[in-house]
Amino acid sequence: METEPKDTEIKFLPGVGPKRAELFNSELQINTIMDLLTFFPYKHIDRSKFYTINEIDPNLANIQIIGKITSFRTEGEKSKMRLVAKFSDETGTIELLWFQGVKWIKENLKLNKEYIVFGKPSNYSGKINIVHPEIDEVEMHEQKEFAGLQAVYSISEKMKKNFITSKTINKLQQTALQKIGASLGETLPNYLTGTIKLMPLRTALKEIHFPTSLKSLQQSQFRLKFEELFYIQLQILKQKYQRAQKLNGFRFTHIGDYLNGFYKNLLPFELTNAQKRVIKEIRADLGSGKQMNRLLQGDVGSGKTLVALMIILIGLDNNFQTCIMAPTEILAKQHFASISKLIDGLNINIEILTGSSKTKDRKRINEKLQSGEIQLIIGTHALIEDTVIFSNLGLVIIDEQHRFGVEQRSKLWQKNANPPHVLVMTATPIPRTLAMTLYGDLDVSVIDELPPGRKPITTIHFFDSKRLRLFAFLKKEISEGRQVYVVYPLIQESETMDYKDLEDGFESISRAFPAPEYTIAVVHGKMKAEEKDKAMQLFIKGQAQIMISTTVIEVGVDVPNASVMVIESAEKFGLSQLHQLRGRVGRGTEQSYCILMSSYKLSKEAKIRMETMVRTSDGFEIAEVDLKLRGPGDMEGTQQSGIPFNLKLANLAKDGQILQLARNKAIDILDKDNLLENEENSILNKELKLRKRQKINWGAIS
Ligand code: ADP
Ligand code: MG
Repeated sequence: METEPKDTEIKFLPGVGPKRAELFNSELQINTIMDLLTFFPYKHIDRSKFYTINEIDPNLANIQIIGKITSFRTEGEKSKMRLVAKFSDETGTIELLWFQGVKWIKENLKLNKEYIVFGKPSNYSGKINIVHPEIDEVEMHEQKEFAGLQAVYSISEKMKKNFITSKTINKLQQTALQKIGASLGETLPNYLTGTIKLMPLRTALKEIHFPTSLKSLQQSQFRLKFEELFYIQLQILKQKYQRAQKLNGFRFTHIGDYLNGFYKNLLPFELTNAQKRVIKEIRADLGSGKQMNRLLQGDVGSGKTLVALMIILIGLDNNFQTCIMAPTEILAKQHFASISKLIDGLNINIEILTGSSKTKDRKRINEKLQSGEIQLIIGTHALIEDTVIFSNLGLVIIDEQHRFGVEQRSKLWQKNANPPHVLVMTATPIPRTLAMTLYGDLDVSVIDELPPGRKPITTIHFFDSKRLRLFAFLKKEISEGRQVYVVYPLIQESETMDYKDLEDGFESISRAFPAPEYTIAVVHGKMKAEEKDKAMQLFIKGQAQIMISTTVIEVGVDVPNASVMVIESAEKFGLSQLHQLRGRVGRGTEQSYCILMSSYKLSKEAKIRMETMVRTSDGFEIAEVDLKLRGPGDMEGTQQSGIPFNLKLANLAKDGQILQLARNKAIDILDKDNLLENEENSILNKELKLRKRQKINWGAIS
């Protein structure tokens, strides 16, 4: 295939050359001219307004002025040398300062010639100046098709050192558009650009780098964001359609003694309506003849474990092996204990396998898995090791999904020649926009109702000075038979962190709650599994009234008698983590409390986090706030598993509507033309292939 002009290597673009090309490659992953054109500005600044020098105030953001350089002087010694220029208009004089590139500036800028100076004014030894301003010649400025909106690109330090600035990039964009603009073909089918009135690609690229008006800038952004999101959706959904066609799922059609026996004799409480609905949705999948790939979202305490168990019993009724994979040993053990208790009397062969299982046990378990004797195995990552071989694995349940990487999930998938049904459960509610992209090929079920009788948890934010009041309150709760969690941020390697860590906390709490009256259990990540277990058991059995821990208890732990969750240095935690932690209480019938302790010094974002926690306990609402605060890449739940693509322009926190539109259009198209074989869709196929290079590995998800 002949290279299209847009795929020309960047080094051949006039003004680039091999040296800069290397920097573009390594710093910005720009290899071709098209890569450059789709290196979008992160903002635009308004350069339509000019200030006069007497209007300048050091508190202003970037400003621009027109005037002349009246003199140059250098100050300081060699390495610290700086160039100072006096710059004047009719209203006054300021100083322009350079610490780098002095020689170039002196040789290229002329005295008494009109320039446009752009930069941030600051105050230096009583004088107003602008450090490293951008400088334009007046004529050049006027030549541009100019709406006053100038594109700004993010540039690495290394690029700056090599004199590649935002302005350099902008200039190169212009060259690129001149070179290849005319040859740029459309990347979306006409029937699509027509019906939703999208700006043509060529115009959109021109407008985003060189806006002619605010309105057309917005139209160009809309077009480019739509395209970006549309192709991601098309790719995810196409694979989903294909997989559904290709793979036969095991049919779990039989309901037998396990489920019936459990339902009639052992079910400890009436299922909530949400649990019933979700079980129905899952059963439909299991009987459909297609492989299930479903995400079960349910806030902490919504009763996902019970749902999982009932699905497992259906698996067993159909003579398949089943497994639950949990992210931590503590959680695996807790599942093992609580599920063993729930199914006591059903005669189910259940085992647990974790990293700390003894060699002897491992051997026995492996043999029994291979022979098919074990019906349900609960475990951690240990389950995905190659030595673990099943006889007939039919169902995999992955708890607290976000802790597992994409690859780990797909490994479990391969534990049977015909892939097992997969149910991933998460208590981190994922905003809709994120779920649509991150888990776009999964079907989603939501438990949106808590079991009855739960009193809403009261959340209070205390500054550290209220510690005595806190202790008094804890004493009162404990005297009424309740238990208390106190959670600290992870013990940090760095000694410079000035917040209390668990060790200090333990000391002060031990003083306030002395033995033998009180027993305190401590759990942190650096303890051996056995010690952790012992401490957990103390608390679970009610022998310890206080559990001091790091976030290892974040997920899953279930002690209904615990009614107070104290979170120390709460400002150091992310919203979703705070929400998870709070979910550890409020599981019994007593009024529960979550107390956020923080210092007085709170960043703006930390303040919003505290306020959000106090205001609402709705996990989805909290997740939306989290997404807005942190952006999708940094959200908990996406960090470990990783967002498998990079969005260049669209923002999942802000562009939900465009995403929905893109998804709907992709569904419409695939509904009519499953495999994109129609002539009118050939352009879609071509673009999908091109975009596959961008390392999107959707096949591995689920
Ligand atoms: P999560 O969804 O966070 O995993 P769990 O499955 O641990 O929640 O359930 C939380 C608590 O609610 C457990 O103590 C469980 O026994 C209880 N529970 C679950 N379903 C119900 C129900 N339908 N009615 C009453 N309590 C329930
Ligand atoms: Mg759970």
